[in-house]
Amino acid sequence: MLFTELNLIQPILRAIEEEGYTTPTPIQQQAIPHVLKGTDVLGCAQTGTGKTAAFSIPILQQLADQTFQGKRKIRSLILTPTRELAIQIGESLAAYGRHLKLKHTVIFGGVNQNPQVNSLQSGVDILVATPGRLLDLMTQGYISLLDLQIFVLDEADRMLDMGFIHDVNKVIRALPDKRQNLFFSATMAPEILKLAGTILQD
Ligand code: AMP
Repeated sequence: MLFTELNLIQPILRAIEEEGYTTPTPIQQQAIPHVLKGTDVLGCAQTGTGKTAAFSIPILQQLADQTFQGKRKIRSLILTPTRELAIQIGESLAAYGRHLKLKHTVIFGGVNQNPQVNSLQSGVDILVATPGRLLDLMTQGYISLLDLQIFVLDEADRMLDMGFIHDVNKVIRALPDKRQNLFFSATMAPEILKLAGTILQD
């Protein structure tokens, strides 16, 4: 299979080509059509399998296809356990979205919040976040998730291992009921499936 067979828009295909990719990886082949259709996805994939592009590319396409006026609102939230992963996802969005007019920002703890707050206040379409800093900035009133359409829980197994389950549940309670959910984990142990069951709707 080729990327050109996945019904992707030209600006994204061009960016993928510039990255030097020709063939979608198995997780990309399997996930991208469902994400584009708007259904929930439960993806079992480890780092290194191309899972970041498997959710980033179709999210960019869905949001790029919508017209909107006024200030940008967070329409997609990607929750990931570590700062390194958050930065990596941000780089992927920048690469695959380089010919689109979407904006994203990355927030994580352990650093001064001011640059992150400034970026949020200028308006973003996609927010990449680690749970602690996300909740912190939500509590301070800097983040509204009322317009959220697509929620990604990345590396769910590591979220649990790192003790973020309560934070993740708090974030989920703040999301609109009607949304698309993408759930990725390297393993599917019973407690992961239980969490997936509380998040996935369709
Ligand atoms: P990930 O599993 O998302 O951490 O991605 C692992 C690496 O594979 C990253 O460096 C990507 O740039 C690269 N990659 C992702 N998709 C493809 C693809 N279809 N062809 C070649 N490389 C890819």
